[in-house]
Amino acid sequence: MTQNKRPAQNDSINQIEQSFITLKKTVPLLVKHKISAIPTNYALWYTYVSNESSGLNQELDTLVEQGKPLSELKAKDLHRQYVSENENVTAWDLRQSIESMLIELSQTIKDTQSDSHSYKKTMDLHLDDLNRVEKEGWSVEEVLSLVRNMVSEAQNIRQSTISFNSALNNAESEIARLKVQLQESQQEALYDALTGLCNRRYFDSELQSKLALEKLSLILIDIDHFKKINDTYGHQMGDLVLKAVAKKLQSSCRNDAQVFRYGGEEFAVLVPDADIKQSRQIADGMRRAIEKISVKDRRSGQLLGDITVSAGVSQLEPNETTQNLIERADKLLYEAKRLGRNRVMPM
Ligand code: GH3
Ligand code: MG
Ligand code: MG
Repeated sequence: MTQNKRPAQNDSINQIEQSFITLKKTVPLLVKHKISAIPTNYALWYTYVSNESSGLNQELDTLVEQGKPLSELKAKDLHRQYVSENENVTAWDLRQSIESMLIELSQTIKDTQSDSHSYKKTMDLHLDDLNRVEKEGWSVEEVLSLVRNMVSEAQNIRQSTISFNSALNNAESEIARLKVQLQESQQEALYDALTGLCNRRYFDSELQSKLALEKLSLILIDIDHFKKINDTYGHQMGDLVLKAVAKKLQSSCRNDAQVFRYGGEEFAVLVPDADIKQSRQIADGMRRAIEKISVKDRRSGQLLGDITVSAGVSQLEPNETTQNLIERADKLLYEAKRLGRNRVMPM
């Protein structure tokens, strides 16, 4: 082993890459031409692939064309002639090339999840083998067979990495596309277009999922004499009132409460962790906040006030169904209407 041949630590990446490329081309040639892989032959064909000596390439091409086997003597002769002593490729050089190949490959797959774990294991085994080459005096045939395995494994892994990357890219853009689609369909399916509140469908599934809660209250809210608003000011103005009420409901309830548009001019609020007294207070706070709303008719400039709501509040009982809970709140809402509107029941 010639110490001065050892490349400097900061050898450029290009050199490493180049030696890897040359190695990858050299090994298949040795295999193809059934050339025994003694270091001299390796150096010869390495030089051939590097295209450093046109004389050598011509002689080897002619030999291959004639289909003549390259005798050991001829190889040694060519080696002496074309591959200078200084350029002599030793087992150490071979090892360097193989190491470069492993490093290059490990970098190629570094950023992917694909096979990296199992490849790292394989690579470690190969590096162990390389250490044994020197310690145990492996025959060059054995080294070559190791190299052959590594080249074919390298090819497999590169291929699977490429496929994996493109599959990953495809999957990523597909996921992004589906995400947008899903968001759009969820918007449509779960939110009310006019008020932006969660809709009845969302309410049904939320209520179902909250049945296991220890404490849950339901507030049903209905705008009083809403038909009159529509009739007096028009449907458009009615829509503005619905939006204003929705906004006020949202802003006047606790953070953990959820407001839904339950139907036409009816709203539902789910309040977790509150007893009936607290929920009643929340509902009454909302009622009072809505009393203060005034909506402006842009066309006439007219201000519309006196918007009021009635509400019924029910508290989830053990083992109660959603239907029962809703019915109880609805009955209380009806009671609030009957007693004169603009109030919360129970008192
Ligand atoms: P009450 O105090 O008893 O609740 O009387 P009300 O007039 O509010 O109740 P009613 O059920 O008689 O009328 C509700 C009206 O709400 C009827 C319907 O046309 C109107 N409405 C439902 N959805 C919408 C909507 O999206 N926009 C508008 N502008 N009106 C709506
Ligand atoms: Mg109604
Ligand atoms: Mg109403």
